[in-house]
Amino acid sequence: MTTKVLVTGAGGFIGSHLASRLKRDGCWVRGADIKEPEFRPSDCDEFLRLDLRSWENCAAATRDIDEVYALAADMGGMGFISSHHSQILYNNAMINFQTMEAAHRNGVRRYLYSSSACVYPEYKQTETDIVPLKEEDAYPAQPQDAYGWEKLITERLCTHYREDYGIETRIVRFHNIFGPYGTWEGGREKAPAALCRKVARAKLIGNHEIEIWGDGEQTRSFCYIDDCLTGICKLMRSDYHEPLNLGQDRMVTINELSDIVADIAGIRISRKHVAGPQGVRGRNSDNTRLRKVLGWEPEISLEEGLARTYAWIEQQVREKVRHERVSSPA
Ligand code: NAD
Repeated sequence: MTTKVLVTGAGGFIGSHLASRLKRDGCWVRGADIKEPEFRPSDCDEFLRLDLRSWENCAAATRDIDEVYALAADMGGMGFISSHHSQILYNNAMINFQTMEAAHRNGVRRYLYSSSACVYPEYKQTETDIVPLKEEDAYPAQPQDAYGWEKLITERLCTHYREDYGIETRIVRFHNIFGPYGTWEGGREKAPAALCRKVARAKLIGNHEIEIWGDGEQTRSFCYIDDCLTGICKLMRSDYHEPLNLGQDRMVTINELSDIVADIAGIRISRKHVAGPQGVRGRNSDNTRLRKVLGWEPEISLEEGLARTYAWIEQQVREKVRHERVSSPA
């Protein structure tokens, strides 16, 4: 029998890719989001434009559904997360609490929740050269932002609904997922997309100086979207219900990331370091448990993933620059 799945946040970056993957895998897919995907049509069998902060909408979205992939969230890159605490905590708690309760009442069997590396405590991420984060490092809790606190509390919600009601919950902690068809401008974009945009613009207008927030020595690991989707699908089918990291474990500085993007673009850049939110000083994923539980870990190199992402973003920037030149010729 065909599995009927709901992807919340199906109008967003990971959700829209995931809906396509689940369709290809033979599921019947309902998407729910306040907006349709921005950059290409949705592959969902049914797409409901719904605000999932509302109980009625959560009940409608989860009706007749076997499995939920809960990805809807009010979120963005560091610039957004570090400056919208109340909004993020309120919106995401409303979405997650009501989607979970509605799924339980509608008899959903499996439920995957998209948590984040932002749950990890600030005190373990104060140096650039940090020890990779293991799942158990989340406690004692001290996430940097409200975004991370909300993720942590919804992780607990999943655990309690599984224990109390038997719904099979899965909890995945993403570490900086990137790829084409994601937000690349407007304030919610994350570092890889922002750097691709800055480098593409530098290349297209011929001014090779790009701005970097802070000294650029802050470190992260970055995981390409196709690996993220494979990990999500493997975890959903596994019997593992504790939180699990999903990311690459190769740590790079933001300066190094910008150099990789510039190499892909075929230009040399100069960096102008400006004040801006940087998040924690260093962060990396410890993939020991991921390898053990799924017998797999992300495989696509940073260079390969960025090449695919850059190609798409350069196309978007090219279109925008062309438009700017037409509307205000020099
Ligand atoms: P995204 O912003 O592209 O997608 C989130 C989607 O949720 C958006 O389309 C948005 O419209 C939708 N949404 C927001 N408020 C809603 C509401 N009230 N009702 C219905 N839909 C609503 O983000 P993404 O990168 O695709 O992230 C997906 C999930 O993964 C999120 O839960 C995010 O917190 C988590 N995550 C992502 C990353 C990453 O690097 N991309 C890292 C850690 C965790």
